[in-house]
Amino acid sequence: MTTQTPAPAAQAGLSERYQPLIGGRFASPTTETFAAINPATGAHLADITRGSQADITDAVAAAKSAFPGWAATPVEQRSAMLVELARVIDANIDRLALIDALDIGRRVSETTIDHARAADQYRFFAAAAVTHAGWNRSIAGGIAIAKREPIGVVGQIIPWNVPAIMAAFKMAPALAAGNTVVLKPDENASLSTLELGKYISEIFPPGVVNIVPGLGEEAGAALTAHPDVQKLAFTGSTEVGRLIAHAGADRLVPVSLELGGKSPNIVFPDVTDVDAIVDNAAFAVAHCNGQSCLAGTRLFVHDDIYDTFMPKLVAGFERIVVGSPLDPTTVVSCLVSSEQGERVLDYIDIGKKEGADLLAGGDRIDVPGNEFGHFVRPALFATENSARIAQEEIFGPVLSVIRWNDYDTMIAEANGIRYGLAAGLYTNDIANAMKTADALEAGSVWINGYFNMIDGSPFGGYKDSGFGSEYCAETLNMYTHLKSVTLLNEPVAPFFLP
Ligand code: NAP
Ligand code: MG
Repeated sequence: MTTQTPAPAAQAGLSERYQPLIGGRFASPTTETFAAINPATGAHLADITRGSQADITDAVAAAKSAFPGWAATPVEQRSAMLVELARVIDANIDRLALIDALDIGRRVSETTIDHARAADQYRFFAAAAVTHAGWNRSIAGGIAIAKREPIGVVGQIIPWNVPAIMAAFKMAPALAAGNTVVLKPDENASLSTLELGKYISEIFPPGVVNIVPGLGEEAGAALTAHPDVQKLAFTGSTEVGRLIAHAGADRLVPVSLELGGKSPNIVFPDVTDVDAIVDNAAFAVAHCNGQSCLAGTRLFVHDDIYDTFMPKLVAGFERIVVGSPLDPTTVVSCLVSSEQGERVLDYIDIGKKEGADLLAGGDRIDVPGNEFGHFVRPALFATENSARIAQEEIFGPVLSVIRWNDYDTMIAEANGIRYGLAAGLYTNDIANAMKTADALEAGSVWINGYFNMIDGSPFGGYKDSGFGSEYCAETLNMYTHLKSVTLLNEPVAPFFLP
């Protein structure tokens, strides 16, 4: 008798049908569903409730009734639950990572890191919440204090590219601060968040976390418009971010937005380890299959080093293994959907038509057993900063290399973009590094190592990349009100009446 390895979907232990998590139960008034499809193979993975206005109404009501109890729960207990969630994620990391690889087509080695980072976020905010201080000052005959209070029901909407991290960036600080949550995952990436919901439902009291899958224009819009949602937090495109900001303005509730990016990555002529920087430049644009808001998509290479650097970069791009998300040798896998795949190929076409020089990649290839998927070899273009491929967020593995000479012109071009999320730079000259970091309009600047995100360091955008900082202790400020209380030891002596 021969034993067969179970199919990946069976290994991942997926359910056939996923319901929203509302008030501690997986149930819904809605019968309509949408399908989760494996973007590499086209295989049907599961059916998911297409969350409606009725689901949002129920989820917000559950969050609202859970709020007073959760806000009154000692922070040490809230923290302990977040730490437990992190432990459960770590214990189930292989399964969760496999689910994301099947659902969004990213390679398992990356999605494993996503879930490890997500677990770190829950632990980070568990710790940060117990040290989250208000303010106080002694005054004559008393004290003035400011207390931090949770806001209430928080509505959170996330994109598909790194669902584990996005869910953690949103839920960890909101819950740690004592809010209750209604989260809408992306229709292209709901499975790992709904599986996380199963663990959450065993750890947190009912109604503290509610997860409603569905479409943006339906469940998402209903969530942002709901009168009992007292804060909105969104990660996604700048275009939808603007809609969320309007929805917040209509109801005068605070909004935090993490939006798109088109980040510069700058190579100075004094660098010595060219191979390391070539590796960084490729990683910056092609990790996450280029589907990252943080991607370093505009590479500024100095004249003096250009002719040494570029052949190595071309050779590096040519070595990138494009393959199945489940193959451990894969570096770049498939784009999240046919729609996204066609969009990326269209941009590569635009680049060619604009006269950019295509130096490597840029074509769709067939991966055996995964013919359905859009596997695109990372495209390396030499072009100008004003080109459309250098100005517009493509959200795929497409790099625009821009040759530079004059420092001020290069800085003007690096900042000459509507976005301001991140930037990278490479130099051995510390004074130059710090001067350049100051000059860049970007929420994060990484010197000599792209994507070097450290728990506790703020992450957020300038300009059209949004506002608000996540990933850091200050995020708890976004999820709390500051209430001022002034106390005197005894009533003030009469002073007003004649
Ligand atoms: P998107 O289209 O803006 O979608 C993001 C989320 O918003 C999805 O859950 C979507 O629902 C929902 N949505 C769409 N229309 C809505 C509406 N009218 N009201 C309420 N919600 C609505 O973004 P995407 O294309 O999926 O994701 C890529 C974008 O996200 C890129 O621009 C990227 O840069 C950005 N991003 C930013 C960060 C950051 O931290 N700055 C991180 C990751 C990604 P559906 O399920 O229907 O799509
Ligand atoms: Mg979407």
